[in-house]
Amino acid sequence: MMGKVTGFLEIDRQVHKYQPAADRIRHFREFTLPMSDSEVEKQAARCMDCGIPFCHGPNGCPVHNQIPDWNDLIYAGDWDAAIRNLHSTNNFPEWTGRICPAPCEEACTLNLEDIPVAIKTIEQAIADKAYETGYVRPYPAEKQTGRKVAVVGSGPAGMAAAQQLGRAGHEVHVYERESRPGGLMRYGIPDFKIEKHYIDRRVEQMQGEGVTFHCGVNVGVDKPVDELLAEYDAVLYCGGSEKPRPAGIPGVDLHGVHDAMPYLVQQNRRVANEDIQSVAWPSEPIVAGGKHVVVVGGGDTASDCVGTAFRQGAVRVTQLDIRPQPPEKEDKLTVWPYWATKMRTSSSQAEGAQREFQVATLEFVGEDGELTAVKCCEVDEKRKPVEGTEFFIRADLAFIAIGFAGVPEGGFAGNLGDRLEMAQDARRSHNVVANEVDYRTSVDKLFAAGDVRRGQSLVVWAIREGRQAARSIDEFLMGTTLLPR
Ligand SMILES: Cc1cc2nc3c(=O)[nH]c(=O)nc-3n(C[C@H](O)[C@H](O)[C@H](O)COP(=O)(O)OP(=O)(O)OC[C@H]3O[C@@H](n4cnc5c(N)ncnc54)[C@H](O)[C@@H]3O)c2cc1C
Ligand code: SF4
Repeated sequence: MMGKVTGFLEIDRQVHKYQPAADRIRHFREFTLPMSDSEVEKQAARCMDCGIPFCHGPNGCPVHNQIPDWNDLIYAGDWDAAIRNLHSTNNFPEWTGRICPAPCEEACTLNLEDIPVAIKTIEQAIADKAYETGYVRPYPAEKQTGRKVAVVGSGPAGMAAAQQLGRAGHEVHVYERESRPGGLMRYGIPDFKIEKHYIDRRVEQMQGEGVTFHCGVNVGVDKPVDELLAEYDAVLYCGGSEKPRPAGIPGVDLHGVHDAMPYLVQQNRRVANEDIQSVAWPSEPIVAGGKHVVVVGGGDTASDCVGTAFRQGAVRVTQLDIRPQPPEKEDKLTVWPYWATKMRTSSSQAEGAQREFQVATLEFVGEDGELTAVKCCEVDEKRKPVEGTEFFIRADLAFIAIGFAGVPEGGFAGNLGDRLEMAQDARRSHNVVANEVDYRTSVDKLFAAGDVRRGQSLVVWAIREGRQAARSIDEFLMGTTLLPR
């Protein structure tokens, strides 16, 4: 079915607009401006219902959202059916509608003309409507199976798995070492990208479905993993990929140089009126107000440091990326429908960051133990320093956001020692070994999903893995399953 046959010819692409940068950096709230229902319906009309819908093919949406179907429903004004359809593939579309980088839009056929359907904006609108209409309420299982499952970690992978398992009738207990559930959604990603009441509402929904959350329990430290394996019929490990990649840059021990995570976690906790010290990222208070800030790295985490520093009142924020500046426009015929390398500017970068490309960080420089500057140089295509190009950037604070190296040695993994098979992936991330079919680890009854298995990734991939692992666990416990993959 296709909404408006000539929609893509008649209607221009529109996505959510933002509050101006000068206004939004005064607060930590979300800053997208609402779109009317009729505007969303017009945007949905642009979908061409392609014979092969690349948007939910292998290069498109990882949870296989049925995008053309809900676009048609929205065009027809049937929001209730669109809400049900969207929730059949995605437990938490209000999360992905806000923070997914939208590989679906890259794969959209209209992206060949740079005017993809505004899929992410429409997804958010449907998900927000679900909140308004009261659809987001508990849907408890009709029958209990008598089986008990423990989920370790309450990020999007653990939450999605727990919801699916609870709805399949199992008794589900989620163990989370931090004070509140949500994983990186709550303590990594800033409020200005997603406000945390969207997590609280889902936690309430799941509690209403019978899921129990045990926060403040660090499994492997406060409770041995073997105890959990003995108490439950199955255990799913969704602990994330949290070990920061070591920078190996001289001067990292200077006062003022930090990993990105403690900085971001502290600010999230401040906004939530929580004690700023987390279990995983204890650190002295870090605040960028009145400071010259340098962020090393070019990904999401780096961008989040940039936006947080501006909101805290940084004087200047410079972001260093070792990669060359990508082209403004990709060659569609060589990359589509895959994710393209092209110049992208995050909303945080657009708030005034000075971006330096093809630059290596040589050293953090300081006086009396305090950071004063970052020594950099230009690099060639092979990332080799170009002689004579060294320069210094004034810095009172520097954040290292160069990625994550997988599962830490101690804690959960340390408890299991050699029994838990781990392997290094192409990005040098040390992850738990489990396949994408049954998600079973080398330890009996223990499954793994999300970043802990695939390395640092995306919320939508974590949701997918959580859902698929739940299906595998259900089948393991019951011999058969009706949960979708
Ligand atoms: C700063 C930052 C910004 C990001 N921005 C985006 C974005 O804009 N869009 C996007 O799609 N993705 C983004 N990502 C990636 C995304 O957040 C992750 O891929 C996703 O959260 C992974 O989900 P997960 O459930 O596998 O793990 P996590 O979200 O990491 O959750 C793991 C949870 O397990 C808990 N845990 C770990 N070990 C134990 C233990 N032994 N006992 C009890 N609890 C334990 C942790 O406390 C944590 O709550 C970002 C990541 C970072 C770091
Ligand atoms: S979850 Fe991400 S990839 Fe899937 S439809 Fe939403 S924005 Fe697109």
